[in-house]
Amino acid sequence: MLKRALKMAAGALYLRSGSGKQALADRAVILMLHRVVESDEAASLPHRNELCVGQHSFDRLLGWLKRHFDICELEPLLTTPSSSDRPRLALTFDDGWHDNATLAFPILQRHQVPASIFLSTDFIGTRQGFWWESIGETLWGSFGLAAIDSLLPRLAASGKPVPELLRSMPQNADRSRLVMRYLASLKDLPAPTLQALADSCPLSDPPQAMSWAQVTELEQSGLIRFGAHGASHALLDCLSPSQLQQDISRSLAAIASHCEQPLPIYCYPNGNYSASVTACIQQHALPFALSTRAGIYSAQSSMPYGLPRIGISQAVAAAPALLGWRIQQAGRPHH
Ligand SMILES: [Zn+2]
Repeated sequence: MLKRALKMAAGALYLRSGSGKQALADRAVILMLHRVVESDEAASLPHRNELCVGQHSFDRLLGWLKRHFDICELEPLLTTPSSSDRPRLALTFDDGWHDNATLAFPILQRHQVPASIFLSTDFIGTRQGFWWESIGETLWGSFGLAAIDSLLPRLAASGKPVPELLRSMPQNADRSRLVMRYLASLKDLPAPTLQALADSCPLSDPPQAMSWAQVTELEQSGLIRFGAHGASHALLDCLSPSQLQQDISRSLAAIASHCEQPLPIYCYPNGNYSASVTACIQQHALPFALSTRAGIYSAQSSMPYGLPRIGISQAVAAAPALLGWRIQQAGRPHH
């Protein structure tokens, strides 16, 4: 705890100090978020912490960010020099969660803060679930014991048996940590296997992904713009050349047909990319792509097809001074 308190103090000082402001003068911070959920407490569980932020923490985070940064739209932040004496920051959301429209958007609107949302387009307007959410929440117990018992043999058959003790564990932080570690162990399974496992889980209500009507409504507000985050959310560097072409083309075509002003910026699912992935993005005449690598954006030194971001977990959203510390670390010259 002492370590955390010191990080928070250092982070707050950094953003207030001349050195912090100067270090960030010709640079910018791109934040990466996923879900905004109703309860801060639910978001803070280990298996959700990295990808979920509670709505109250999100509200407070925006207030804190507005005091320290100029919150800008992503595209102008990448294409035009800063005219402000405050560091610039842009918000990005990955995947296209239903809660981005129902919970995050009203808070963004209240603060009049713009954001970019990157959609995994096959999921938009469908009941299909993202594998880590469907499998993770089923194992956590969100759908009851019968759902767990029907999923366990399928997971064992895919070569990834779930540790025996999970079934009898109470819904506490230990169980949540076990779910988190187990989900991480699934990442190397083929995308179709993971999707089939997710499809065998109970459907959530409301659906995980937003609808195209919600996409239209958010874009028409003038506050939100959309880009592509893969079509199937498959790890792009693991696809064959023809699968890669198809996934990227399909995602861009869906965005182009549903959005007035698609972002000329790609967002790699899970941050995975390779030389052939960036070549494919370039062929589609997109000048930028976002990675998940932690870092601060610099027009001079950032690679346009591997732009760094800073991930926002519930732990960071609940204590935004920690973000100051993370920005200071990521902004150091050796990074
Ligand atoms: Zn994603």
